[in-house]
Amino acid sequence: MFKVKLPFKMPEVKEKSSRHVTCYFGREKDHKDVRVPVKLVPNWQMEALKKFEELLGKFRNLKVQLDSCVHCGNCADACQFFLGTGDPRNMPVARQDLLRSVYKKYFTTAGKLMPGLTNADFLDEDLLNLWYTYFYQCSECRRCAYFCPYGIDTAEITMAAREIMAHIGLGTKYVTEVVAKVYNTGNNLGITPMAWKDSSDFLSEELKEMFGIDIPMPTDMKGAEVLLVPPSADNFVNVDTMMGYAVMFYAAGISWTTSTYCDEAGNFGMFFNRANHKRVNRRILQAGRDLGVKTILWGE
Ligand code: SF4
Ligand code: SF4
Repeated sequence: MFKVKLPFKMPEVKEKSSRHVTCYFGREKDHKDVRVPVKLVPNWQMEALKKFEELLGKFRNLKVQLDSCVHCGNCADACQFFLGTGDPRNMPVARQDLLRSVYKKYFTTAGKLMPGLTNADFLDEDLLNLWYTYFYQCSECRRCAYFCPYGIDTAEITMAAREIMAHIGLGTKYVTEVVAKVYNTGNNLGITPMAWKDSSDFLSEELKEMFGIDIPMPTDMKGAEVLLVPPSADNFVNVDTMMGYAVMFYAAGISWTTSTYCDEAGNFGMFFNRANHKRVNRRILQAGRDLGVKTILWGE
């Protein structure tokens, strides 16, 4: 729903102020683990356009959002990245236009016939560099969507652009490494199964010291009623939360367990491409099936 904005002061516009802020490229090893080309494919333009066409065919919302922006500017100061940097490319509408210009050029009649009038643009190396920079300066928070009278969600446009980039072998080290860790250890932080169990046992001992009773923190317990899938940070950093789950289950008399195959609630596949988004989610279901639980409690 369209919302009235709080009176934030529009920042001073500083052209290209965050142009130099780019992510490290993904490593070959991680790209292999997340099943995308290990580097930019030779025929990347054609491959990118093929993927773009596929996304437009599958997701009508993407096409509608690319078609319906009227450039009213209401979303301009809705993005924290623009508020923080003053870089006009971080205005949500400008971020969208990086993809929209290519959409117009290759997938609309007006853009093909009158590129100058429609801001249609070729997908060349310069534009691809801008994609890599500014689509990775969007956190997909969706704040801007609340301020758009048409409900255009820049996060979905960012996701489409990242999906295309992943397809041609352009991934960031941060995101691909985190997703690869899920496949290799079960969680974003790279906590090994042994370390996860050790930490759970340690926290259970802490609870005994605090309350004088045995409050278990089971791992990989077959037949438990509930599989808890917490953010891995809860068993490593925010341990009060992890101990809180244990106390709650104990008080409620519910048998529960965590899984060392899948001990991560956060899904970084969402920040990369749909295939990994699904693959990470499937691990949660698989863990539930393997342990024979009745309920999966999953959340961050
Ligand atoms: S979704 Fe992206 S563009 Fe929109 S406000 Fe969040 S970070 Fe900014
Ligand atoms: S508020 Fe919506 S219609 Fe207006 S410029 Fe932003 S995305 Fe386009």
